[in-house]
Amino acid sequence: MVDAAVDTLVRCAADAGAEVAYAAKAFATIGFLRHLAQHSIGVDVCSLGELITAERAGFAPERITLHGAGKSNEELAAAASGRIGRIAVDGIEELERLAAISRDSCAAGVLLRLNVRVEAGQHAFVRTGGDDTKFGIHARDEEAAVALLARNPQLRFVGLHAHIGSQVYESAAYAANAAALLDAAQRFAHRGLTSSEIVMGGGFGVPSHPNAVPEQLDVAAAIAAAARCVRDAARERGLPSPRLGIEPGRSIVALAGTTLYRVLARKRQTSRTFVVVDGGIAENPRPALYGAHHHVVGVARPEGELEEVTLCGRSCENDELGTVELPPNVRAGALLAMCSTGAYTYSMAGNYNRVVRPAVVALAGGSHHPLARRENLDEVLARDILE
Ligand code: PLP
Repeated sequence: MVDAAVDTLVRCAADAGAEVAYAAKAFATIGFLRHLAQHSIGVDVCSLGELITAERAGFAPERITLHGAGKSNEELAAAASGRIGRIAVDGIEELERLAAISRDSCAAGVLLRLNVRVEAGQHAFVRTGGDDTKFGIHARDEEAAVALLARNPQLRFVGLHAHIGSQVYESAAYAANAAALLDAAQRFAHRGLTSSEIVMGGGFGVPSHPNAVPEQLDVAAAIAAAARCVRDAARERGLPSPRLGIEPGRSIVALAGTTLYRVLARKRQTSRTFVVVDGGIAENPRPALYGAHHHVVGVARPEGELEEVTLCGRSCENDELGTVELPPNVRAGALLAMCSTGAYTYSMAGNYNRVVRPAVVALAGGSHHPLARRENLDEVLARDILE
């Protein structure tokens, strides 16, 4: 499923003259990235942990781009020393810090991540391009960015970036982002900086339910429209046509992932029936964080009439995982499958209530192999200082 998603994206991108990099934040283990490294795609990382995972998976520096709204000195040093091919700088202060850390040589090319004030995405928490977000360089700071780059010739400007949000279903949002980026490219060109790359982020929406046809984004159309927009706008402005990059995360892994939960309790309260499972906010925080919805089915053959129930985690929070319809035989001991949890589920898991993170198993061609083993309690306790 992952291979098919990558192949489709690479084909759509190639048709439009664009390049693909996988956003590792969606899901990353060394084995998984090693598999993706066999495809003709790059990878985006946004922490030292993701960078090391990509390195150990075999991604060469030139295939790696470093992102992040707040980068540590160690991460900036990784850009300077040649461990990555591109760094997407997210603010003026960060550009100053990169200049200081890199002194007279910075191996990574510099993309400036702009806040182009185009916003898209289902929930405020996953919108990253609008006026009211922490992401990107504000238009008022563009001049300062140009001056900083001029004072620091070790920083090689390669182009502009803007990621507008996640779970985007409107193709027009990508064209709007591309148009805004080309307007910015023209402003930078007037100040002497030519953009050879324009990267329009990821965010391609995936359906949250198997029958959710209206939610489907036509990715090929979205990429083609953005590429057309970049080409036409560059021609109209007399700019050399920049290379277009896209950074999908969710649309590569979301549908490939299924979470298996064991039911721990089913109980009727005053007005609702609750089904409590052996997971929740610790290993799947997105429903509580921004109302992410997943389709859920019982693994056993259903018996009896479906009842609307509230699916909950086992944590000491009201960690509702959604309202779903389940038959009465889904009670303590039953297995549930939650669909489309491949993206931003395992990668966002933590240890609240000192629970362990689950194992991840890959299935392909009728066989399976583990990608991550289940954490054990000794590992959870290992960081405690006893004296
Ligand atoms: N690129 C950047 C800069 C991002 O911040 C994100 C997600 O937050 C992505 C790409 C991937 O987005 P998605 O997984 O929705 O495709």
